[in-house]
Order: sequence, then C-alpha cells, then structure tokens
Amino acid sequence: DVLVIGSNMIDLITYVDRMPVEGETIEAPDFAMGFGGKGANQAVAAARLGSRVSFISMVGHDNFGQQQLANFKANHIDVTGVGVGQKNSGAAPIFVDPSSDNRILIIKGANSELTPAVLDQHVDLLQHTKLIVLQQEIPLATNYHAIDLANQYHVPVLLNPAPANRDLDLAHVSRVDFFSPNETELATLTGMPTTTLTEIKAAAHHLIDLGVKNLLVTLGAKGVLWVCANDCQLIDAVKVQAVDTTGAGDSFIGSFAHYFAQGEDVPTALHHANAYAALTVTRRGTQKSYPTAEEVAQAYQP
Ligand code: ADP
Repeated sequence: DVLVIGSNMIDLITYVDRMPVEGETIEAPDFAMGFGGKGANQAVAAARLGSRVSFISMVGHDNFGQQQLANFKANHIDVTGVGVGQKNSGAAPIFVDPSSDNRILIIKGANSELTPAVLDQHVDLLQHTKLIVLQQEIPLATNYHAIDLANQYHVPVLLNPAPANRDLDLAHVSRVDFFSPNETELATLTGMPTTTLTEIKAAAHHLIDLGVKNLLVTLGAKGVLWVCANDCQLIDAVKVQAVDTTGAGDSFIGSFAHYFAQGEDVPTALHHANAYAALTVTRRGTQKSYPTAEEVAQAYQP
C-alpha cells in the first residue's frame, strides 16, 4: 500500500508554430488536455504497477475537478482522501514550440486548499500504509504536518522536493526516510554546484550530514545516486531512445514507492524504478506513458 499526499493539475498543452507577441492573436496548430500534477502522476504510476494507492488531494469545484476524480477512479486509486475545494482546479497552461522547447505556467488553484487540517481528517490513511509520498506543489506546512504524523505513526515517508523551493526548511528533511531531489533541485537546496558526479556526491553528503537518512538523487539518463550514512551507490539508468522525458521524475518516484512498499530492499527498488522510468521516456505524454506491471514484464522479457 502507498499513500500519496499531493497535487493534481490539468495540463493545457498548446502546440505553437511560434509564440504570439504582445497584443497579437495567432492560430496554433494543435491543443491537448492531459491529467498531471506531481502527486497525481506518482499515484498513477504506483497504481498502474498494482499497488493499492490512496491519494490525499484537493480538486477544484469546476468540471476539471470531476474529470480528475474520474481519472483517479479509472486508475483504481482510492479517492476517500480527495476533497473538492472552493477554488478552480490546479492548471498548467503549457506552450510547446516546434523545437519542443516549452513555456509553462502553474496555477495552484485548489491545491493551495490542501491544508494541514485536511490531513487530520484522514489520519487513518496515514496510519495504515507502507509508505507516504510527498512533493512540493501543496503548502509546505502540509508537508511538515504529514512528516510529523508519519513520524508519530512510525510510517516511512519520502519527500520529493519538486519543484525546488528555497523556503523548504532543511530541519524537516532529517525526519524523512527518503529525500529525492534531481540534480537541479539538489543544487537549489544546498547552494552547491552539481555539474559533475564528484560535486553531486559532495552536495549529497552535505544533506547526509544534516541528518537525511536516504538520499536518492535522480540523474536523468545517468540513473540515480543512492547515498546513506554508510553507503553510496550509482545505479545506472537503462539505455533507451528517449522521445519524451516529461513526467520521468514522477514515474521514477511513483514506481520506487510501489517496489519499496512491496518489500524490496532500496537498491533493488531503485533498479526497478530506473527500468520503469526508462520505459516511460520511450513513450509520449505523462500519465499516458506510464506502463502497467504486465507491460513492464513484456518490455524486459529476456
Ligand atoms: P526529472 O524529471 O525530475 O528531471 P530525471 O530527469 O532525473 O527527473 O529522471 C528521473 C529518472 O528517470 C532517472 O533517474 C532515470 O531513472 C529515468 N530517466 C530519465 N531520463 C532518462 C533517459 N534519457 N534514459 C533512461 N532513463 C531516464
């Protein structure tokens, strides 16, 4: 069982020939809507692999909110912890140009209504899970409260500090079992360079010295660096032809949560999460690209 506490967003993706200038109206060749938000993505990845996933999240009072709920249910996610807020749904207008460069706006919407008090209504969900998974698209105070409750109930907790937020108080990070930034987030949090593997290890050890138990630094096509007080392993990525890496980080976290909650040890779960995330970058889309357990088994048949 996995409990994800976090965001959901509607991705509004406009494919443009070029960006309009101020005051200009132009035609764009295509548009697509997608289900996103880091929390929702991670919950979907774990659920597609077969975990029993509960999600604590706030959808908007608009039609998008109802569509989000339907999508969670279609993915067999338990929605007992999903509330309907006063605000509109979180949304992300995304503009993609022909060279695949993108410009993204994030409107938090109802995600800002996921307050610490909401967690108090669902303590049973926090108590009865193998792993609690957090990201940073909801108020920081809610994550701090989730960590408090996880510690109180002796439930392991993973914090994926994405998107990077300089306001994150590193004192709380010593109280999580897994802390999982990518290279850029690691640089933002430590103020240290993370260009080379040597620099990444130095920055990682800085966080270990602050009391972080397990650091999982995702390194894109280079895989993941696992650092704990007495061990450090680079677990190589699976070599694939990447076509779309959006949502790779979320597929990695969601699948790691699944494999860990299944009882795998950390390095084994990381190997499997690398394999899962590699498969998702060979497919277009975000949640659309997340395979099921059967599809993973088929892809990695000997
Ligand atoms: P984010 O999306 O947060 O930037 P990363 O780019 O670090 O996250 O990717 C997360 C994980 O996805 C990596 O640790 C790796 O397992 C997998 N991954 C990402 N890009 C590739 C790639 N080009 N080839 C193989 N695996 C990849």
